[in-house]
Amino acid sequence: MATTTDITGDPKVLAYARALYAPEDRVLVEIRERQERAGLPPISISADEAQIIAVLLEAVGAKRVLEIGTLGGYSGVWIARALKPGGTLTTIEIDPATAQVARETFQAAGVGDRVNVVEGDARTIVTKLDPPFDAVFIDADKASLETYFHDAMRLLRVGGLLLCDNVFLDGRVVVDADRKPDVEGVRAFNRLASSDSRLKAAVIPVRDGLTFGIKVAD
Ligand code: SAH
Ligand code: MG
Repeated sequence: MATTTDITGDPKVLAYARALYAPEDRVLVEIRERQERAGLPPISISADEAQIIAVLLEAVGAKRVLEIGTLGGYSGVWIARALKPGGTLTTIEIDPATAQVARETFQAAGVGDRVNVVEGDARTIVTKLDPPFDAVFIDADKASLETYFHDAMRLLRVGGLLLCDNVFLDGRVVVDADRKPDVEGVRAFNRLASSDSRLKAAVIPVRDGLTFGIKVAD
């Protein structure tokens, strides 16, 4: 008989599932290597998280996607590969040298024609974008998450997908004494995403926590 034990933290079980559902090809492995050579931190989403995102993008038929926080382009390549034909990814990166690494990544991955790397501060850039987007993936400065939530809700079409990475912030969300701006930003996001009646959302406890939600009303 199946038990009610939560086995999802077992490394062997995770490795088994990853090898089947989210194997990395050469291009993806090389992105991690390129990021390391460029001195970027190893904070990209994991392959299993990326595969979840790819399936969700498929479910909403994503064609026009926004990413906030590019880094070296690892998540961006997964997103670009999941787009419907003719689709585009706009991805915003504040650091010019990092944006350059990402451009190299998208060229090397053969998705350069589908990806628009916008260099600059997402806090101002997103306010200038026009709806509708089929999906918005938020993965940048955590202190701005409350603002990004409202931006994303404005930009998404009804039926569109809201994604946000690091919603556990390495466990800091439950350390009450921690009142730093980044953790307060994550808490504000989680409160909004879980309670806004225009959004139906859930958390996938993968890696550092992934919130996903469907915008159900304007
Ligand atoms: N999504 C990437 C990881 C992004 S890491 C992946 O999973 O592969 C977060 C990135 O957001 C960093 O590269 C950082 O430079 C960028 N960033 C931080 N604040 C930003 C801002 N205000 N506007 C745009 N990018 C920002
Ligand atoms: Mg992240």
